[in-house]
Amino acid sequence: MTTQTAERFLPFGTTIFSEMTALANTHRAVNLSQGFPDFDGPDMGKDAAKKAIDDGHNQYAPMPGTPELREAIAAWTQRASGVDADPMTEITVTCGCTEGIAATMLGLLNPGDEVVVFEPYYDSYRACMAMAGVTPRFVTLHPTEDGFAYNDDELAGAFNERTRAVLINTPHNPTGVVFSPAQLRRIADLCITHDCIAISDEVYERILFEGAIHESIATLPGMRARTVVLSSAGKTFSLTGWKIGWAIAPAILTAGIRSAHQFLTFSTATPLQHGAAALLNGGEDEVTKLVSHYARMRSLLGEALGELGFRVRLPMGSYFIMAEHAPVSDRLGLKSDVDLCRWLPEHAGVAAIPPSAFYSNPSDGSGFVRFAFCKQSETIDEAIRRLRKAFA
Ligand code: GLN
Repeated sequence: MTTQTAERFLPFGTTIFSEMTALANTHRAVNLSQGFPDFDGPDMGKDAAKKAIDDGHNQYAPMPGTPELREAIAAWTQRASGVDADPMTEITVTCGCTEGIAATMLGLLNPGDEVVVFEPYYDSYRACMAMAGVTPRFVTLHPTEDGFAYNDDELAGAFNERTRAVLINTPHNPTGVVFSPAQLRRIADLCITHDCIAISDEVYERILFEGAIHESIATLPGMRARTVVLSSAGKTFSLTGWKIGWAIAPAILTAGIRSAHQFLTFSTATPLQHGAAALLNGGEDEVTKLVSHYARMRSLLGEALGELGFRVRLPMGSYFIMAEHAPVSDRLGLKSDVDLCRWLPEHAGVAAIPPSAFYSNPSDGSGFVRFAFCKQSETIDEAIRRLRKAFA
């Protein structure tokens, strides 16, 4: 059958997340591939959503989101990163951060514009750029002794007179990098010099380790007026299936984002907006508990991978470990990340993500494998037991 799919999507195929979760299910593997918790979010959120259904909040929400949720997002964001936002003119509730990214690009960029984007990148970024007809300029986060970092000259070289936006993600999926104030400052300076906007995906804003501090580029001098901050409730409250995200931007940028959002999804599930508002207003203790659990899972999995021969750089934020696999896969005659990730579910009973899917030049990612540790202790224990058996 010849394809009927539009040309703009042909380079992207099926997302690696669906592919690897399907492979995990086929082999009944412990799924450390797609990043979603294998436990439920807090009861207080679920109860508020159920009550909203029973109370009759079942018709379209207002296009920019329910006023209660926008108020809750404003207060939450002010506490979390010190960004002040007007709920009426500067906050838009979207169908997860993924729709927020799409609405931002479609609503604010014109075909032919260039966007500076760090790689490895979250796969939807690239597909959204194709939908918006804009050209990506990639800046690689190179492995360092204990993490990943961009090179200053490469960053500066990616900007030119056609640059309209820089897309950043901090804490970063999949490397776990939390951009330092100095790194953000250099990005902000280039943004101001080239008069472009910053699109800042901060969905892992609260998932931080070893005292790492998340800063939003919007808080740097001169940046609030040119930044779109994107986040969501999915990661922070373990409710990835709710798809409640938001975009915070000055009114002039919000107008563009809403222009696209109204025709993409118009609005997001009303009862779930009520549930999310309850969590943002009262779920602080839940976040603390969750992050201390993730800190334990990070150490447990990181140590086990290290003992098995993987080269591990522990993430400072997010719930992923990007490990170098050569010492392990060489012994098995497996060459790339894709080889290893196809082998793992069947032979080890564990699934992971091949990060080459997140690079413009896939071979840059082929030495890595990404494991998600947003799981219950029993799940991580079982994955470690299986990996030890397979690699013994
Ligand atoms: N953000 C999740 C991850 O990186 C997956 C999201 C998705 O499946 N589209 O694993």
